[in-house]
Parts: sequence; structure tokens; C-alpha cells
Amino acid sequence: MPSAPPASHPSNRAPGSAASPSSPVRRLDVVVVGAGFGGLYAAYKFREMGLKIQGFEAGGDVGGVWYWNRYPGARVDLPSIDYSYSFSPEIEQEWTWSEQYAAQPELLAYFNFVAERLDLRRHFQFDTRVVSAVWDEERALWVVKTNRGDTFEATYCVMATGPLSVPKDPEIPGLDRYRGRLLRAGRWPHEEVRFEGQRVGVIGTGSTGIQVVQEVGKTAGELFVFQRTPSFTMPMRNQPLEPEYVAEVKRHYAGIREMARNSAVGGVRPQSSRAFFSVTPSQRRQLLDDAWKNGGLAMLGTFADLMINPEANEQVAEFVRGKIGEVVDDPKTADILKPRGYPIFARRPCLDTGYYETYNQPNVHLIDCNTDGIVEFTEKGVRTESGEIELDMLILATGYDGLTGALMAFDVVGRDGHTVNEHWKDGARSYLGLMMDGFPNLFMTTGPNGPAALANIVRISEHDVDLIAGAITHMAQQGLATIVPTRQAEDEWMDLVHTLSQRTLLSKAKTWYVGANVKGKAQGLPMFTGGFLKYREACAAAVNDGYRGFVFERQKEAAAA
Ligand code: NAP
Repeated sequence: MPSAPPASHPSNRAPGSAASPSSPVRRLDVVVVGAGFGGLYAAYKFREMGLKIQGFEAGGDVGGVWYWNRYPGARVDLPSIDYSYSFSPEIEQEWTWSEQYAAQPELLAYFNFVAERLDLRRHFQFDTRVVSAVWDEERALWVVKTNRGDTFEATYCVMATGPLSVPKDPEIPGLDRYRGRLLRAGRWPHEEVRFEGQRVGVIGTGSTGIQVVQEVGKTAGELFVFQRTPSFTMPMRNQPLEPEYVAEVKRHYAGIREMARNSAVGGVRPQSSRAFFSVTPSQRRQLLDDAWKNGGLAMLGTFADLMINPEANEQVAEFVRGKIGEVVDDPKTADILKPRGYPIFARRPCLDTGYYETYNQPNVHLIDCNTDGIVEFTEKGVRTESGEIELDMLILATGYDGLTGALMAFDVVGRDGHTVNEHWKDGARSYLGLMMDGFPNLFMTTGPNGPAALANIVRISEHDVDLIAGAITHMAQQGLATIVPTRQAEDEWMDLVHTLSQRTLLSKAKTWYVGANVKGKAQGLPMFTGGFLKYREACAAAVNDGYRGFVFERQKEAAAA
């Protein structure tokens, strides 16, 4: 039997709810926050179910992270064919990718194509931020307010806010003082930015910084790269997609998607069951050389145990360090670029096109922030321990408050006035990465403690939306008003997430994966490391077992509370 709802908390009587007759409150079935991969598909799916929906997007148009990340060189690091929707066979046939790894303009064009083809824009308010979402216990609905002063009420709230949507400035004093042109990679201007003859600084050498450096280095007068932790990066070896290949893919999309859904990474990538030390040293070397030549993430898939066997991992890391030494002319620069002290692939592996070669150019200068740290920003540039570097332009590629930042950035208030900020103060908690104890009818796509950044975000988004749609359909059929996970189910899921994470090397590096890049943030690896297939199986098992771990309340019970 469903449990009786708890007594209504005063803070759950949301201001702006039906009590205020003057405010035009719109009543909806579902509010969707975000118009990236998750939000767009959610809007489509729920509309096709006949639900009344409203989406909100802080950006000016569809695309999520690809709307904002217009920096030079921005490009996806998964094959475009994998990094696209599978829910519409028509879109699969009508859209043609031009490159193996699409650049940002093509990704944005894809979003536009999908939005137009399925007429999705009309469901979103763009340039609109949700400032609060408050659960009204008495009426069993969410009261959602936006920065435009509008109020909406919805039975369900779907947070498709993405794991990487809150850019983070570096914790260095004086940014306001800087009088040159300040550019944030994650909030890049829409107009073209030219670097010819300019003294340009780039702070950050993660996936973003690497793409920026290799591109801006081509034209900048002088480029100063401020590196604290070097990343391991491997050749992308991007190429145009030949028409015959694309035609072949289009004939076999169904099978390709099936393979992706049944894989650990949610994509079609080389994978092996071979243990590193199961083959001879010369075979290992040959396999690594082949992977390097093939490019992409081939190396990660060459051996099965790279994320669980530290010695195997270190040998692969040393192989990449050797490659850096071969490419970079100046041994001192090469040495600074060689990552040490953390396992390869524990930070997001980067893919580049001529990144290390960039440091052979006379206009490119590498500053090692470990020996010459940035002290402050000045009016003219950056002051490091050894002196001031004057810059016409400063590019921040300093990452994101990942996984949890978006939902903790505004007021999300569940039962008894309990906020997401409180719920996550010691680290993100959820059941199946989809819902939280105490937050009825609030769903997340690609949420913390799901596979999040460890599998293909499009596959996870589609999976999560389908599961949410299934739950809403089930509730409609059964006359149920609310769904919420139990504390016990959330605890058990968190135990599993934690236990699995102990078996990998992923938490052995200071990264956004573990919250190390944000001062004061709870540390831990809030991601399901068991792989996408196992994640899908866990979700399906819960659903097929009568929504194990969830509590439903009936319409009349919720209304009578
Ligand atoms: P990131 O990986 O978190 O890198 C941020 C960089 O900024 C790090 O090198 C960091 O150094 C540096 N940094 C921060 N504060 C600093 C300071 N005070 N002084 C010096 N350096 C500082 O962020 P990102 O590069 O934006 O990438 C985030 C994620 O976005 C990636 O992991 C990936 O999942 C995704 N992404 C994907 C693509 C793609 O598909 N190709 C492209 C871009 C991003 P420390 O490490 O020492 O803190």
C-alpha cells in the first residue's frame, strides 16, 4: 500500500500558487528545464503523449552546451554518428554528418534541424531561467518561477539541465580589474573573434583548453598557455565521412544503436576483453602504437583492465608521455606537458589535432602554474610569481561546476521545505540517477549517480526520458498522483555507486568528476561506473519489479492530505 503523504510543510505552500489570483499561473502537466539533448527529446516525447508541456532554456536557442560553447576549435570527441538521436528513424535518414567528429557549428545545425523537423521550439521559452521550483504538497504539483516573473504549475518537473552547464571562473583574485578582452569558453560571443597580432592568454588545459590552444595558436600574435595540470591527449584523427560510409551507416542504424545501447559506454567503440599483462611487452607496444595511429579513444578500448590495474594504467601513461617527448622539440616544454601523478583516463581523455605540435611554434609559450603560479589578474593581464604578462585577450577554459552545479544554482524545494542544496550538501544523492528521496515527481536526465559523463550523453538522455515517460504513463493508467523513491532505495543505490567507484581509478585524479575543481564542494565520484548496459539493466529491473524502490500515492490520497 502506498504510504500516506506527510503533513504539509509551510514552505511547501509556494508563493505565487493558486492563492494569488492576480498572477497568471499556467497549469501544465510537465515543466522541462533545458533544451539540450535531454530537454529537446523530453519535449517531443511528452508532446506525443498528449501532455501539456512548457520548456525553459537559459540560452537563446536550442543546443544546450553546444549553444554556449562556440569557442574556436569546439568539436565533439565522440563519433558524430554515435552522438546523435536514435529515437527518430526519419531524422537518422534525413540528417547527414560531414565529419567523423563534428565541429560545434555542425552540432548546432543538427539541433536546429531536429527542432524544426519536429516543431519543438514552440514548447520552449528561451533566454529564460528557472529561479525556483517548489513542491506544493497539498496540491501535489510543482510551482515553477522564472526570471521573467512568470509562474507555472506542473504535475511533473523534468530537469534536463545537463552535467556541464555552469561554467566556473578560476579562483584567482582580480578578474574584475582586467581591462583587456575577457572571453569565457563556455559563454563564447556569437560574433567572430580574431586573434591576429594579439597577445592572448588561455587558462586551463582540459578538453576545452586543448581545443582552444591548438586553434588560437594558429593565428595569435603571441599565445600564453597557463597550465596547472597537464591532460593526456591523444590524436583525434578526424576525417570527412565518405558518402558510401554514411550510406552504409544509414542502412544499419538500427543495429548500430542496438550495439551502443548494449555497450558499457553507450556507443560503438573499440572494446577488448584482453588484460594488459596477458600479452607480451612487444605485443602491448604494437597494440598501443596501432591505437595511437587509429586515433580517437581506441587506446582506452585496447585493454580491458586499464581503469582497474594501476600498473597497466601507468605503462599506457608512460607510452603517451613518450609520444609527447617525440612530438615536442624543446625537452623542458615536453617535460612540463607530460602528465604525472594521476592515472591516464582518470581525467576525461582528450582528443586533439596537433595540440602538442602547437608548442613547437615560436609564438606559443607554456607557463607551468605549478612552479610559476598565477597570483592575480591585473589591469593589463596576469601576474604570476615571476612577473606580469600583458595580454590583449584572456580566455578562460577553467571548466564547470559539473554534475550538480545546475540544480544547486537555484531553489529546488521538495517535501517539508527540504532543498536540493541540503540533500546534496555531503555529495549528490539520487536513486538510479533519476529521482531523489523527498522530491516527488521531479525527474533528472543524465543526473548524478547515473552514468552521466562516463557514457554517451545522447543515449543516456533518451533512456532517461523513455523511463520517465513510462512512469508517467503508468501513473496515468493507475490513477496515481505522485512518485518518489524511498530513502532505503536511495541509500542502497548510493551504496552500489560508491562500491563500484572504489574499484576504478577514476577517483584518483583531482577533476570535476569528483568535485575537486570547486572550492568547498563535497568530494566523491557521483557517477555509476558499472557501465551503460548495467545501468539500463538496473533501471529496467526496478521498473519490471513494480517500480521497486519507488512509492506512489493515489490522486485522492494526495489531494486529501
Ligand atoms: P576541465 O577539464 O575541468 O579543465 C579546466 C582546466 O582549468 C584545468 O586544466 C584546470 O586545472 C584549469 N584551471 C582551473 N582553475 C585554474 C587556476 N586557478 N589556475 C590554473 N588553471 C586552472 O574543464 P573543460 O576543459 O571545460 O572540460 C570539462 C568537460 O567538458 C570535459 O571533461 C569533457 O567532458 C567536456 N568537454 C568535451 C569536449 C569535447 O567533446 N571535445 C570539449 C570540451 C569539453 P586543474 O586541473 O589543475 O584544476
